Amino acid sequence: MPETTTEVLPCPFCGGSVFIRAVWPTNWVSCKECAACGPSSSSSAKAIAAHNAIASAVADRDRLTAENESLRAQVGQLREAGQHLLDVSEPFHRPTDLVGWGSVDNMRAALAATAPTQEAPDA
Ligand SMILES: [Zn+2]
Repeated sequence: MPETTTEVLPCPFCGGSVFIRAVWPTNWVSCKECAACGPSSSSSAKAIAAHNAIASAVADRDRLTAENESLRAQVGQLREAGQHLLDVSEPFHRPTDLVGWGSVDNMRAALAATAPTQEAPDA
């Protein structure tokens, strides 16, 4: 049965290149850089699939963590900008002169609601 070519993702721990090890009757993916080993399996295709599943999950986690940090930073910037607008316009506030917000107090409450309420879980 001919081997099918399957892309083998880089090491999920260090990003290094990997190779397939086979010692009968097991196969696994091993990192050339840090020597991490993937799950062993009865075939190289299954070992690659198991390794790729782990590497893909780690890549997804890292991407989502970075996206989360970026979004938190953007919320912080918007919050600061909103607070700055409130501060510089303070002398001109009347109780109900903010169209859409209803009142300065509503705007302050909406701004306060954007404050982080909990830390992100550790990776
Ligand atoms: Zn590695």
